[in-house]
Amino acid sequence: MIIDSHVHLWLRDHLPNKMVRMYLEPLQALKDVMDWEVDIDNVWPEYGVNASALIEMLDASSIDKAVVLPIDFNLVEQSRIGIEEYNTWIFENCNMYPDRTIPFIGVDPQRGKEALKMLDHFTSKYNALGVKLYPPTGWYPNEERIGAFYDRVDDLGLTLITHAGAAWTSLDDKYAEPKYWTEFLDKYPDTNLVIAHLGGKWRQQVLEMCDTYSNCFTDCSALQGWLPSDPETAESRLREIGERIPDKVSFGTDYPLFELSYTSTMWADFVRSKPWANEDVKAKLMGGNMRKILGI
Ligand SMILES: [Zn+2]
Repeated sequence: MIIDSHVHLWLRDHLPNKMVRMYLEPLQALKDVMDWEVDIDNVWPEYGVNASALIEMLDASSIDKAVVLPIDFNLVEQSRIGIEEYNTWIFENCNMYPDRTIPFIGVDPQRGKEALKMLDHFTSKYNALGVKLYPPTGWYPNEERIGAFYDRVDDLGLTLITHAGAAWTSLDDKYAEPKYWTEFLDKYPDTNLVIAHLGGKWRQQVLEMCDTYSNCFTDCSALQGWLPSDPETAESRLREIGERIPDKVSFGTDYPLFELSYTSTMWADFVRSKPWANEDVKAKLMGGNMRKILGI
């Protein structure tokens, strides 16, 4: 089974204005050919995607399933639609393709009791398997105030996928340093944590943490940002993870964020075709490891 362990679905109304602008930044490379004064609402449709658009990408890429990750940015800037409604849209939309999608809950743990209620609701109603977290909205993963949230995640048997590495606009990447997760990894050995994007600029920390903690994992989504300008770097990163942490890393695309610069289908082809590891290691990256993480 081939799994894309990191994709997003959203419509314009699900994201605050600042985030919409951020996600459109790659388009600025094209600003010579487009009128940058245009209303962001008119440009956004390129990045507004629902489950049927995702399925088209999965089919074109010969990928069986995708882990769908909503993100709660609303405590930083309120979007037009509330976070519970956005999550409901994710689960209802993904329910149309139950064999192809694995929707996660997207909630900011700073919401306290409201966050716990969301965990309970989406787990009991939709059998959610995990939660996407985004610390740059303003919290360190080792803060005591997040403890009740972790307890509930652990009780419900959920998997965590956390953003790591760079963050933009008003979000601060100081919160996204992987090392702040070590207390969690120690305290909750039965709960799996995936630190996304190989930890970004903190890659070495993630490699070491994956070695040290049996419940620590990572994904290689967004690595295609190196492509097409520097394909050697992307390939050397793949070779490094294949040698260092072959049982700890999963393939991901971060769909739809790179579709205009380097499509997910091209990225999947790149990973499959380049000689960075043997077929056994590639099969683990392309789905075997994520199956183990999620217990599916
Ligand atoms: Zn992402």
